[in-house]
Amino acid sequence: MTQAIPAAQTTQQIQKQPYNLTRIVIRADRERPFALRHPWVFEGAIESVLGQPTDGELVDLVTVRGEFLARGYWNSQSQIRVHVLTWQADESIDTAWWAARLTRAIGARALLNVEHQAGKSNAYRLVNAENDGLPGLVVDRYGDWLVVQALTLGIDRRKDEIIGLLNDLLHPAGIFERSDSDVRHKEGLQSSVGVLSGQPPPDLIEINENGRRFLVDVQHGHKTGFYLDQRENRDLLRKWLRDDPERRTRTVLNCFSYSGGFAVYALNGQAARVINVDSSADALALAKRNVTLNGGTVDDADYVEGDVFQVLRQYRESGEKFDVIVLDPPKFAQNARQVEGACRGYKDINLLAFELIKPGGMLMTFSCSGAVDADLFQKVVFGALVDSGREAQIVARLTQAPDHPVALTFLEGAYLKGLLCRVW
Ligand code: SAH
Repeated sequence: MTQAIPAAQTTQQIQKQPYNLTRIVIRADRERPFALRHPWVFEGAIESVLGQPTDGELVDLVTVRGEFLARGYWNSQSQIRVHVLTWQADESIDTAWWAARLTRAIGARALLNVEHQAGKSNAYRLVNAENDGLPGLVVDRYGDWLVVQALTLGIDRRKDEIIGLLNDLLHPAGIFERSDSDVRHKEGLQSSVGVLSGQPPPDLIEINENGRRFLVDVQHGHKTGFYLDQRENRDLLRKWLRDDPERRTRTVLNCFSYSGGFAVYALNGQAARVINVDSSADALALAKRNVTLNGGTVDDADYVEGDVFQVLRQYRESGEKFDVIVLDPPKFAQNARQVEGACRGYKDINLLAFELIKPGGMLMTFSCSGAVDADLFQKVVFGALVDSGREAQIVARLTQAPDHPVALTFLEGAYLKGLLCRVW
């Protein structure tokens, strides 16, 4: 280990900084990620800590030569010791800085999708954490309410400041916290759920997505209540059906349906029938309400409570076939160690789906596991296809909606990948 630099050597650097922060010296052989501007600093990259920062405190990252690298917030309880907020030595992380970052993120949404500007959608992600230069912070808009996730200790400690700014910038009816993601535990934090400011949200918030209506349970639903990241893919399914002359005869099997997102769009595309499969009775009950809300009729037989792995096998045994199958499973791999098992799961359901699709039918298949990249996912789907003995072509490569942008310096942000395949 190299010796920690004496304070005197860095005087010049410190003078450039707007205020004196504890310095974290980065090992010489671990500087490369900084050149690439990756926002996470793991314990192994740290040579020494010049001081005793408290958790959540701002720190400066410096080279062993004392040069400034970056500034971020510290957490001794997390494997990610520092989340980087800026690479600019002269940028103070004060209230004006947080306001500017939030304003930038919020403003970017207005330009992303003209449909949002026209007021057609009132539910979308306003702040996508690292990808918006705000590590650990997620803010989703559901109509007049905001739902916030503070995923890191650094954000948790600044919650009041951030809530104040969100109120100033957006004037929501209320702000609700859904910091109940597993990621919190890795930061040494407990779950935190409840009203942060303003009015509590109603049991179900009605949102408008591309002119479709959905009831969202922001207090108990998955993530912050709805899979906003699938908005464009749901609409793509609708367009494919709409352009299909035989659409009124088509049956869609919507696996892992949750509250019926893909079902509502498929019915709007005039599919004859959508069968929804989910293991959650509550999700299916909400799916029925959402289908009704959009003018569809509900047949209880089209809402199957069960395990997709088993239900697909039952269809195979009974010889049932479908025109379109949607596979949108939960995250099978939480980390790199789980990738192999996850791929076995993806292969299993994709193989079954290939077997169940009528010739000329479509498969829309997804993985939201960040640890499984798009190439690997495609290989798994390819393996499933070969085993099924079918033929297929990729007609579209799918990703997360543009309100979930991916910072080029943070490819971990690209978690949702999918393929739309024609199957012969
Ligand atoms: N497609 C949905 C989101 C799917 S989220 C949308 O657009 O909104 C994944 C869903 O899979 C959840 O609703 C969860 O309840 C369900 N699920 C998880 N494991 C399952 C399993 N083995 N069988 C059936 N459903 C499952």
